[in-house]
Amino acid sequence: MDETLRHEMVMTTTNEREAFFECPVQGCGRNVVLDRTTLAMRVLHPGCSGVLHRGSTAATATHSAVA
Ligand SMILES: [Zn+2]
Repeated sequence: MDETLRHEMVMTTTNEREAFFECPVQGCGRNVVLDRTTLAMRVLHPGCSGVLHRGSTAATATHSAVA
């Protein structure tokens, strides 16, 4: 896969229940929230489609793709 089609999500806010991730890439701005109990991902803003989003900075147990 082309490297340009990967975005690295950064964790912006976290608390004991949820962790918020944001894509820093200009023009994308994908926003997701991770439920730390169930590890369910909820998309608040989809951002660029067709891009693989990863969240490697998570202090949570997950290192899976934020997709
Ligand atoms: Zn992105």
